[in-house]
This record gives sequence, C-alpha cells and structure tokens, in this order.
Amino acid sequence: MKNLKADVVVIGTGPSGLAACVEASEAGMSVIALEKQNVSGGAANMGMGPLGIGTRHQQDQMVDIDVERAFKMFMEYTHWRVDANMVKRYFEASAGTIEWLESLGVEFAGAYKYFPKSEATWHIVAVNGGIGRNGGAIMNKHMLDRAQENGVEVMYETPAKKILRDDEGKICGVDAVDKDGEEIHIDCKAVIVGTGGAGDSPEYMKERMGYTYGKDLFNIVIPGLKGEGIKMAIEAGAATTEMTVEKIYILPFSDFGPQSVPVTFMQPNLMVNVQGRRFINEEMMQNTTFTGNAIQIQKGAVGFSILDQKIVNGYKKKGLDVVNFVHHVDNIDDFEQACDDIINDPNNPDVVKADTLEELAEKLGIEDVDTFLETVEEYNDMCESQDTLFYKPSKFMKPIEKAPFYAGIFHPSGYGTLGGIKIDDKCQVLDDDWNAIPGFFACGTDTCTIYGDSYMFLLPGNTMGYCVNTGRFAGEAAADYVDELDD
Ligand SMILES: Cc1cc2nc3c(=O)[nH]c(=O)nc-3n(C[C@H](O)[C@H](O)[C@H](O)COP(=O)(O)OP(=O)(O)OC[C@H]3O[C@@H](n4cnc5c(N)ncnc54)[C@H](O)[C@@H]3O)c2cc1C
Repeated sequence: MKNLKADVVVIGTGPSGLAACVEASEAGMSVIALEKQNVSGGAANMGMGPLGIGTRHQQDQMVDIDVERAFKMFMEYTHWRVDANMVKRYFEASAGTIEWLESLGVEFAGAYKYFPKSEATWHIVAVNGGIGRNGGAIMNKHMLDRAQENGVEVMYETPAKKILRDDEGKICGVDAVDKDGEEIHIDCKAVIVGTGGAGDSPEYMKERMGYTYGKDLFNIVIPGLKGEGIKMAIEAGAATTEMTVEKIYILPFSDFGPQSVPVTFMQPNLMVNVQGRRFINEEMMQNTTFTGNAIQIQKGAVGFSILDQKIVNGYKKKGLDVVNFVHHVDNIDDFEQACDDIINDPNNPDVVKADTLEELAEKLGIEDVDTFLETVEEYNDMCESQDTLFYKPSKFMKPIEKAPFYAGIFHPSGYGTLGGIKIDDKCQVLDDDWNAIPGFFACGTDTCTIYGDSYMFLLPGNTMGYCVNTGRFAGEAAADYVDELDD
C-alpha cells in the first residue's frame, strides 16, 4: 500500500476533470489526478469543440446569440424541468471559458452551427488552422499541459476505487489501484469526480435507462466509461439523478467507414419504419437527437432511409442537400462502390440495395410490403405538390423512382450517458436531503441533467461546454472549500 497526500483529488481527466485540475492548482492547491486509462481527454478527444455564448468569435462573425436569448430558448426547450441556476451560470461563464481556453493556448476556428436551424454556439477547435475532427484532443492537451506546469500529478492507469469520508462526514481520502495492482491511499480534503458516465457499461445502461445495447441502442463506446464515478459517489452518500443518453442515430457498422455512405443516407429523403410508414419530417434528420428519439420509438427501434439512383446522381452532380462538419465529404463519387463493399461484408448489415421496391422491402424485412409501396406512391405524389403529412419543405421532396434503390438502416445511438450524481450549481455533491457533502464536488457528464430528456443540439457544443465549465466551477469551489477549512 502506497500512501499519498494532496489537498484535492480529481477522479478522471476528461475535459471536466482537466478543467478542475487547472482551476484548483491555479488557486494554489496540491492536486493529484487519477486516470484509469493511459491517456487524458476521455470522450472529448473525439469531439470538435465546446459551446460559447457571447464570445468575440460570435461578434466577429456577426452571430447574434446572447445569454438571454439562449437561456430563454433553453428553458422553454427543457420545460423548466432542469436547474435554471446552473444553466444560467454555465451560459454566463461560457464566453469567459472560451477566452480562458485561449489563454491556455487553444485556438478556435470560429463559432459554428451544427445544422442550419441550430445556433452558432459551437466553438470548433482549430486543427491545422482550420476545421477538422478531433480538435477536442488539442483542447485537452492544453489543459493537461497547464495542469502539469502547475504541479498537478496525473497518475495514469490508476482507477479510483473508493471515496472516503471521516466521522464528521467530511471527505478525507480516496483509494485507488495502480497498473501493477498496488493499492494506493490518498489523504485529501476535497474530491472532484468527473468520470464521464457509463457509456461503456451495457449493464448500467440496462439497469438505469432500460436500453439493451446492440438491440435498441448502439452506443458509441468510449472504452472504460463504466459509471464508476457515479457508483463510488452513491456509495459515499451522494444522491442520484435520472440518467439519459446523449441521443444520436447511426449506421452502427459503417458510421466510421467511408463517409459518403452515412453522409448520403443522412440527407433528408424518405425514411420509413419496419411497418413501411413514414414517421418523421425528414428535414429533422439534421437534428441527430430528434431523429434518434423518433427512431427509438419505432417498432424494433429502426428507421430505413431510402434513396434511388436519380437522387444519388443528383447529389453527385449538384452536391448534397445538407452538409455538416461531423460527417463531411468533398464529394460522394465512391458512394456506390462503398455501398457494394458494405453489402458484401456479411458482418455489416447497414446497407441494402435492390432493383425493385418490393425486393428492397423484402431485404429490409418490412412487415407490410403493400403499405410500403403505398407510402412510396403517396410520397412521390407529394413531391409534385407538397408534403401534407409532415410538412417537409418542398426543396427536400425528391421522388423514389429509378432503380437501383438503396436503404441505410439506422439505429439509435448515443455519445454517452448524462446524469447520475446530484449536484447544485456550485458543483457540490448533495445527499438525499439535498445537503452538500463537505469536500465533495462533481462535474461533467456524471452530473449533467440540464437537458432534461433530450440533448439540446440547437445550441451545439453543449456537452463539452457543460463539462469544461462545470469542471472549472468544481475546481474553484474545491479550492475555496479547502481554503476555508485551513483558516
Ligand atoms: C465521437 C464524439 C464526439 C463528440 N463531440 C463533441 C463536440 O464536438 N462537442 C461537445 O460539446 N461534445 C462532444 N461530445 C461529447 C463530449 O466529448 C463529452 O460529453 C465529454 O467528453 C464528457 O466529458 P467528461 O469530462 O464528463 O468525461 P470524459 O471525457 O468521458 O472523461 C472521463 C475520464 O474519466 C476516466 N475515468 C473513468 N473511470 C475512472 C476511474 N474509476 N478512475 C479514474 N479515471 C476514470 C476516463 O478514463 C476518462 O478519461 C462528443 C462525444 C463523442 C463520443
């Protein structure tokens, strides 16, 4: 057993834990950060950037979102079922946090929308001076560097196992185990949990949210996110919260393959369910949460995006209807070849191709082929007038007529889980009576219940934004607590 000592122990070094490390160490605390993996950054290493509201970038780009409009929009969206004080504090802090990240060396490509009807709150971290995927890793590296410059000791491959409280109920230590199996005990005055939720725990997702992984949810798994911080916090007396999934929809086996395939199937064309009926205004396919929700409640939790060769040819010639930064291609010239490769891979059941609509329906397992054929006929008729079923704009109404026909088989997915540990707007962990547990703080997705039942893509960058900002709040609050304790 190794015995160590620190003012503050931070559990998890994703964006929330790293921000907490920087803030606590800047305030003069000695900090040990425990990280289960051999790298820092967590899920955010795959992301592109955090939310900011009222930033210099938005001013430069003439984006007119401000805290008041964002707050009102957000609270209406969530029906006021979330912590309004936390939302207000987070939004108000977000512009300063973008500047704070810049002061650590992070460069932003600018403030962007996720899709046309969203707001330009997504501050995409510059990759090679422009927009690229995975800028989140660059942001994390800058926070890590500053934390280490400030003397934070990051212990890799050293998962925390237990959070300890003394006889008075105050936080007094953390137990962990290093990669060689040696037990570590750290005496400390405050603990900050930021372990990123339970997106890699099918058991947890079943138990807390009722999903069966690989059946009605195909979560993007970030290895190691097992809900350990949430479990440890509850064992140490924290109250728990509702948990949800940051819902999206994907082609589970091809989403990270040639991008022409997901990009083309995510265009706002005809989508049907297993009963052969439309169930969404496909314009919504740009909002991945709304579409994930709509697919989730269909029979079998599946949705089929239908294309014909004429639509594909049109996209090749004139470009796509809708573009975004996550799934981005310069052209879709390899679409047919990529589809054939997927179809020929027996382990990759995401795409189907057929010479007739009847054959397509059969390959998709559509239960009522006649209903499907009627849906296509009605849809094609509406393409000549207007969508009287779900009011999709006419510019997106393209008939399904010319063989071969293609279908992309979409399932609900998630970027991870949200919620689990109950906190207040100071990031203090609360017990079942809503009393703050002395010295106990939490941040990031382990605590994130501010979206209610559905993630808010209308203000993009929202999870990473919440994580970095609450990490900062938790780091500051822990330092204040330790200072008061020492006085
Ligand atoms: C593909 C992808 C793209 C995304 N893009 C964006 C985006 O552009 N903008 C946005 O706002 N959001 C985005 N997100 C979401 C965002 O990245 C996450 O919400 C965010 O990373 C969560 O931060 P966190 O600090 O709470 O947890 P995480 O980033 O998950 O970090 C948690 C850390 O805790 C560690 N840990 C776990 N258990 C223990 C333990 N017992 N002891 C010690 N350490 C432990 C983990 O190893 C991990 O390093 C994206 C997510 C994904 C998957």
